[in-house]
Amino acid sequence: MTRNNIPKDHPRVHSLKIRSKMSDSFHSGILSQNGLIAHGRGEAFDYILGENTNKISLDTIRVATAQLLLSDSVISVNGNSAALCSKEIVKLAKLTNSKIEINLFHKSPTRVKKISQLLKKHGAIDIYGENKKYLTRVPGLKSNRKFIDKRGIFSSDVIFVPLEDGDRTEFLKKMNKTVITVDLNPLSRTSIMSDISIIDNLIRVLPEMIKQSKNMSNFSSTDLHNIVTKFNNQNQLQSILKFMSKRLIDLST
Ligand code: ATP
Ligand code: MG
Repeated sequence: MTRNNIPKDHPRVHSLKIRSKMSDSFHSGILSQNGLIAHGRGEAFDYILGENTNKISLDTIRVATAQLLLSDSVISVNGNSAALCSKEIVKLAKLTNSKIEINLFHKSPTRVKKISQLLKKHGAIDIYGENKKYLTRVPGLKSNRKFIDKRGIFSSDVIFVPLEDGDRTEFLKKMNKTVITVDLNPLSRTSIMSDISIIDNLIRVLPEMIKQSKNMSNFSSTDLHNIVTKFNNQNQLQSILKFMSKRLIDLST
């Protein structure tokens, strides 16, 4: 099914449109084959969540946004996040004064270039992770995601990694970075290891972060700090698992 022949009254029209967007992004070289599989896994968890942003995630999104506003931060972009939300990534980076860095698991110079062009089309000016001259390594990490920019992830305190792979989260933590992630799977290593794990669909999360960063734009550092320090990620993940379990039980009785 292509985007043009999805029936408007199809009960899952929104999900099908996103699938079609992902498939287009695969054909245009933005998204890797594995990115398509990751998307499918995400969809399965979103079904359990009810394809909605619940109250727990809204609170976590607020904490994550406050953390971005408070710190020297970078948004790490991969194929999936570029395919789904390039425009919103650029907008959020501007509002929170975050840098943008491309970091890919299935890396190729062509794909990096295509993602960079897409982000620039939406108004990004400086993109990190592209120029080999500035690349260094995450100590100990074996995958291609080990290459990080000295001016970006390497020298920043807070790394926002929408749709991250568990491996790198672990090593970024070893580098004493604060890691914020978006992952629909509350059981993934990424969700468990991050400091702030938003269990929700990136499609819904970024517009909400944009809204919240506007709302918080005149908050003092003390206000932002208070929002961040009250947060406990482990409790939050337990609440999400309870929310999902309750939904399944409610649906089965
Ligand atoms: P980990 O390496 O963290 O243990 P994994 O190997 O299952 O987990 P990856 O393939 O590394 O996961 O990363 C993809 C993750 O992204 C999946 O957990 C999937 O649920 C999630 N995901 C996919 N699409 C979305 C989306 N639109 N919004 C949020 N999360 C998503
Ligand atoms: Mg993984």
